[in-house]
Amino acid sequence: MEDDELSFLEEQLAGTELLACVTCGEDTLHAHLEVLEVYPVGTELLMQCTRCQTERMWMDWTPPKPKAYHN
Ligand SMILES: [Zn+2]
Repeated sequence: MEDDELSFLEEQLAGTELLACVTCGEDTLHAHLEVLEVYPVGTELLMQCTRCQTERMWMDWTPPKPKAYHN
């Protein structure tokens, strides 16, 4: 895996998101558990509710940073 790709994945895993949790029945803070798939238009992540630990998939529609080409 390339360095810039790795740092992107680490960046994705570092943050948390406020998402609707079906178990809690409200918006709760979800931790980034795992990057499932990286698409040109966004990133599919496995998120975990920090309150009840329920896992869910979540699509982050922020496009991945363009790769650094030769400079
Ligand atoms: Zn929950």
